[in-house]
Amino acid sequence: MKYISTRGQAPALGFEDVLLTGLASDGGLYVPEYWPQFTLEEIATWRGLSYAELAEKIITPFVGEAIPQNDLRQILHDTYQGFDHSAVAPLTQLDSNQWVLELFHGPTLAFKDFALQLLGRLLDYLLARRSEKAVIVGATSGDTGSAAIEGCRHCDNVDIFILHPHQRVSEVQRRQMTTVVADNVHNLAVQGNFDDCQAMVKACFQQQDFLQSKARLVAVNSINWARIMAQVVYYFYAALAVGAPQRSVAFSVPTGNFGDIYAGYVARNMGLPISQLLVATNRNDILHRFMANNQYSKEDLSPTLSPSMDIMVSSNFERLLFDMYGRDGAAIDQLMTSFQQQGTLTVDSWRWELTRQLFDSCSVTDEETCQTIGDAYRNCQYKLDPHSAIGVRAAMTCQRDQQIPMITLATAHPVKFPEAVVRAGLSSPELPDSMADLYEREERYTVIENELADVQSYVAKYARPLN
Ligand SMILES: *Cc1c(COP(=O)(O)O)cnc(C)c1O
Repeated sequence: MKYISTRGQAPALGFEDVLLTGLASDGGLYVPEYWPQFTLEEIATWRGLSYAELAEKIITPFVGEAIPQNDLRQILHDTYQGFDHSAVAPLTQLDSNQWVLELFHGPTLAFKDFALQLLGRLLDYLLARRSEKAVIVGATSGDTGSAAIEGCRHCDNVDIFILHPHQRVSEVQRRQMTTVVADNVHNLAVQGNFDDCQAMVKACFQQQDFLQSKARLVAVNSINWARIMAQVVYYFYAALAVGAPQRSVAFSVPTGNFGDIYAGYVARNMGLPISQLLVATNRNDILHRFMANNQYSKEDLSPTLSPSMDIMVSSNFERLLFDMYGRDGAAIDQLMTSFQQQGTLTVDSWRWELTRQLFDSCSVTDEETCQTIGDAYRNCQYKLDPHSAIGVRAAMTCQRDQQIPMITLATAHPVKFPEAVVRAGLSSPELPDSMADLYEREERYTVIENELADVQSYVAKYARPLN
């Protein structure tokens, strides 16, 4: 399998290089050259497979020859072994045809573990084979950083540096990052905000010569193709569990950067009968405004009770646009350049209408989020986290066909976002057993000035050289 850039200029790459690259050199995102196809008969034979076995079926065509089958199988087995529920991604029923897919049984209690547990292992495997080392520099407002750290803590060939805004992430989120004590894990608490952190990471990628050793810089944000690929699996897993492929299914997805829901779109392109994909956003609803009015326009950020979806633009949306424009890289280059200049974008109305055949959207306020958390608890004694609650709210209000099972992706455990749960009038959720001692564990992090030079020299000093 080859991967091509959404802007049409960068060279096509194989899986291994795509994994190690991140953004394409023309500023685009890599996508597979074609969508692997499964027939309904083939998908039907997968019912009853374990999560890791199913992952192998779905991921193999994307990896191609890059990793021998036995090694890939082992990596997938190890990846999902570390989840604390034997089903890995269990389904819970909320209402007659409403389901919640629990994606928070990984080590950091949020869905990003599905991708980052795999990414860390894939990186380490490929780097060992090439006798190379990688340095990950990332910024986080919470979930991504802890999931990336957990994904890389056991890697021999990866050093990871995660920048978070000092005193501006929740205590659970900070502790999930800073209590991982490993020689290759570095937490930097930057005396600035999240945007400052992100800008410094971007600057590091633009000018990599601050790294003295011969290591390469790798991105773990949601533009990395391997993350999308890993997320495709649970769409198949959940759909099979409720009767696909003999029947269609619908999904409601709490969305920020459009990574998770894009994986659902990929699953459909591969042959999974998905009849509706519901983009569920909080007040930061650029995607909802596009789906509702063909108006993709940047607005100011509003902090909400669902901070992992507080975004101004959605980095993976470009991947959908690429398909909307018949995979015409030059057209996307033009569209994105004009979006960067004007902060707004509209597509031809026939293209927008075609997209709307599959996608619907819903924007949910903080108040509605808390209401939904309260209702789900009163009706089924089920505690939703605020992100998942936005998905459930959208599912309840925008389901097109009551006969078709609607599955909401529950992206985080409620203990990570207690504020919304308490505001809904419920008691603060408890930490699961695997994390019961989080507040007793020793923390390790370095407070650092909001200065690029300081961050770069810290990374250069602590990144281990190639032996
Ligand atoms: C990252 C995240 C999201 C948004 O996922 P995208 O792929 O950016 O759309 C939703 N919920 C939680 C809990 C997250 O951590």
